[in-house]
Amino acid sequence: MVHGAGINPALWPTLAASPRDPGIEARISDLLSRMSLAEKVGQVIQADLGSVTPREARDYHLGSILNGGNSAPDGNNRATPRAYLDTVDAFFMASVDREGGRAGVPILWGTDAVHGHNNIVGATIFPHNIGLGAARDPDLIRRIGAATAMEVRATGMDWTFAPTLAVVRDDRWGRTYESYSEDPSIVAAYAAPMIEGLQGAAGSDDFLSPAHTIATAKHWVGDGGTVDGADQGDCPCSEEEMRDIHAAGYPPAIAAGVQVVMASFNTWNGRKMHGHEGMLRDVLFDRLGFDGFVVGDWNGHGQVEGCTNSSAAAAFNAGLDMFMAPDSWKGLYETTLRDVEEGRISHERLDEAVSRILRVKLRAGLFEAPRPKERRLAGEFSLLGGSDHRAIAREAVRKSAVLLKNDGVLPIRPSSRILLCGDGADDIGKQCGGWTISWQGTGNRNADFPNGQSIAGALRDAAGNISVSEDGHYEDRPDVAIVVFGEDPYAEFQGDRETVDFTSEKALDLMRRLRADGIPVVALFLSGRPLWVNPELNAANAFVAAFLPGTEAGGLADLLIGDEMGNPRHDFTGRLSFSWPRHPRQTPLNVDDADYDPLFAVGYGLRLADDWQPVTYDESVALPERGSVSRADLMSAGSARGDWELAMLDGLGRKMPIAEARAQTPDAALRIEAADWQAQEDTRLATWQGGGASAALVIGGPPSDFAREVNAQMSIIVQMRVAQPPQGRVVLSIRDAEGGETGADITDRLLSHGDRWGRCAIPLAMFDWEAVTASRLVEPFRIQTDDVLSLQIASISIAAWEEQASERASQ
Ligand code: BGC
Ligand code: BGC
Repeated sequence: MVHGAGINPALWPTLAASPRDPGIEARISDLLSRMSLAEKVGQVIQADLGSVTPREARDYHLGSILNGGNSAPDGNNRATPRAYLDTVDAFFMASVDREGGRAGVPILWGTDAVHGHNNIVGATIFPHNIGLGAARDPDLIRRIGAATAMEVRATGMDWTFAPTLAVVRDDRWGRTYESYSEDPSIVAAYAAPMIEGLQGAAGSDDFLSPAHTIATAKHWVGDGGTVDGADQGDCPCSEEEMRDIHAAGYPPAIAAGVQVVMASFNTWNGRKMHGHEGMLRDVLFDRLGFDGFVVGDWNGHGQVEGCTNSSAAAAFNAGLDMFMAPDSWKGLYETTLRDVEEGRISHERLDEAVSRILRVKLRAGLFEAPRPKERRLAGEFSLLGGSDHRAIAREAVRKSAVLLKNDGVLPIRPSSRILLCGDGADDIGKQCGGWTISWQGTGNRNADFPNGQSIAGALRDAAGNISVSEDGHYEDRPDVAIVVFGEDPYAEFQGDRETVDFTSEKALDLMRRLRADGIPVVALFLSGRPLWVNPELNAANAFVAAFLPGTEAGGLADLLIGDEMGNPRHDFTGRLSFSWPRHPRQTPLNVDDADYDPLFAVGYGLRLADDWQPVTYDESVALPERGSVSRADLMSAGSARGDWELAMLDGLGRKMPIAEARAQTPDAALRIEAADWQAQEDTRLATWQGGGASAALVIGGPPSDFAREVNAQMSIIVQMRVAQPPQGRVVLSIRDAEGGETGADITDRLLSHGDRWGRCAIPLAMFDWEAVTASRLVEPFRIQTDDVLSLQIASISIAAWEEQASERASQ
């Protein structure tokens, strides 16, 4: 039966449906017959730890909880593994409460263990998928999956949202590093081993045993094919391309028994995948025979036509079995219940979705399992960052680094005097990238990786004479310098960019300076994607693309440092799984392009003994214009950015632009002047005189869409100092194009911020998003008081705020 318009299911392969266990099917029927409507509705909803309590999970019969990228016990991203285990246990115990005739269906805990159990301090952090793609080693992938599963189990969790099977085709996307390759055959070759590693081999006794977790193939489908690599964008392609490129990993994943598929945020030819009945039902369920459940992505259901975050019958009816409704779960629960009662969702459809969810829970043995704390690996925290797992990670690092250039400087003799420099020399957070402890991976320090090793630490173990200097300063002339540099951590959206130009004058200057001093330079490049680095390639004697290796930098030392005879201890074997660009604007660039012309092709990667013929890479390429400024940067260096304008508002609501270095409202209630901090006039000093006259400092501009920032629970981040503390109430408000307005009292925040320079974060969650349309903001920032106050502000932006947890943890 064909449900979805516009597709042709016959184009898709038919897989044999995985065998149904009659015992399990009978138990599903029995449970369904005993569950109330409310209990069934609860099963199809997943809430985020940051917005729900165990008591609520019980009362609403929720089917699942996740800890999102920035959600953790007590809001502390550095919570102990014990705290995680206790939290998981508390939710489980609440869910199985049978009092009052509840069915007590055990709750399922999901987490993003996407390169190891990466939300947990101390876990083994494996290389991100882009590096694993370069290793071309399915057996290694299986072992990584198995090790990750054990670490997840140590904290009592059941389920990981991995592997990502995206085939990323435009490297400007901030999730490129989550993709094994732009080449669908590499993704297809890894899907099954990763799933078998995580879940255990289907059909064996190991399958979903207590040492394994439930896996998720994500994001179905077309996530890697969006125009310009835009996050949550449109993937315009034919059905054949969808099947052969973007869906390539799914048939093997399903054949390997993957239990969950996550719907993707993107549209396909304009239609949201969360509501794509043809692709969910006709293809995934009917053709591919997938009989686990489909979970949505973070409020992804709300983007389907006719749906909102708290009302999504259309998405559910299209085949989405479980909503990921992080903060919207309660409203969604109530509407969904009404939707069933009033016939917008049929009882059959609800039963179908619940059956799929129960099937996975039963297969995973959740009904028989003891409470999370008492399960087999639970509480064995020595598994986190344990030596066996770290050895696998180290092997993976060794196999994923790709040697792009070597004029013979590598390998380095262990007795050489080595100068290690660059901002990545001693920074484990930078090695790990996004989805590490926090969502974007920002705000991490070496102390957050008690079991990990920085590159400096690893080299000290491998060679005797290392000096570390970030800016390349030395007293004793070194024999060789290793410069570690690259991208700073990011995840999707914040990491999306306009070109694949790598710009860091700093690293380049450093390399050129060292070369001018006659010191050979090894460039060690950390990045989540190939970037245009021709000047850096020319400046270095050897260039290693290490991608995002994670916590086991020893794998890099194994490659860089040879023996005293000048022989390698380990040779490079990594081969690019993404094409390296010849130009900063050479996107998309893919191995199957008709006019394929990369700088380094997929498959490229030197061995140490390879004879490298001197080439000079073209640096003359006109550098791209420094793209337009992100609309989320409202102010920097004291000036409004992009289309934003700085203005003042007097007590009568009259708005006047601030064009000059000095400005004042006619009633003198507010005075703004350019002031110095780190450079001349790089800040604004705003002084409210008080005395009852209300005035505001405003940043405004044409309607701008901030829905994504709101959904991701980002913050308004103000770099400032409070020059004179507030004497009265200070309100920060936000306005939309239709005159809607919402405000938050920030007096206490200003008082506690005080006179020091620092960043003050005001969570977007403090505002009432029912009152304004987040997609049409004209004033994202208006700060107002009628009393005395003086603020000196350097910059204002809207971004993920991931430092708070470390601050709290260090207090
Ligand atoms: C969450 C992530 C989530 C993202 C969605 C963040 O606040 O922590 O888990 O993926 O929002 O945009
Ligand atoms: C991401 C998913 C992730 C989920 C939960 C989403 O924003 O797109 O990949 O699994 O958040 O954190």
